Amino acid sequence: SLEIIFVGRSNVGKSSLIRELTGRKVKVGKRPGVTLIPAHIRLSDLLITDMPGFGFMSGVKERKQDIVKDKIVRYIEDNAGRIMMAVMVVDGPVFVEVVERWESRKEIPIDIEMFDFLKELGIDVVLAVNKTDRVREEELDSMLDGITDKLGMLPPWRQWINMVAPMSAKKGQIKSLKLIIRQRLHDKRRDDLF
Ligand code: GDP
Repeated sequence: SLEIIFVGRSNVGKSSLIRELTGRKVKVGKRPGVTLIPAHIRLSDLLITDMPGFGFMSGVKERKQDIVKDKIVRYIEDNAGRIMMAVMVVDGPVFVEVVERWESRKEIPIDIEMFDFLKELGIDVVLAVNKTDRVREEELDSMLDGITDKLGMLPPWRQWINMVAPMSAKKGQIKSLKLIIRQRLHDKRRDDLF
């Protein structure tokens, strides 16, 4: 079977997105940082995996955050063979600010580390830029340029339209992400025929 994993920091809206996409609820406990184990949803021959949220979580010790990261990395390495795609969910309006906070401490931002790690393993990554309902329409393009630029994709972001999906789980606006996923599945299934 084919697996699609969803990764992202805590609170970016990952579970809201999965609920919107699949019509199913994944999260067991609501408290961030509690779950260390990936949650699965099966949709015919597709396995949807909700990875634990990573990064800073208030009330969660730094050590625990490292454990979460290690578990995610281990899971991805162990299952890389069947993972056909990773959807990395980010909180659009705060992404650049958070990344720059890490950079100012001379640390590698965890989102960027995860993005590069997935690509190094040869996993197809789709960037889901969530919470676009929080930015004004005229600011959307520059926000997306800023985010893609931090991830090593030169602006304008529209050059990367086949891997970047602005969205709002809250408003149910996930059309571009659905299209990208559908296209990739289609390509993958066709490739598997030969
Ligand atoms: P997770 O920790 O990444 O699984 O995030 P959740 O799905 O639990 O959402 C975290 C918070 O962000 C909740 O308060 C959601 O209501 C909110 N949220 C999720 N998606 C959106 C969105 O598209 N726009 C806005 N404004 N808030 C959102």
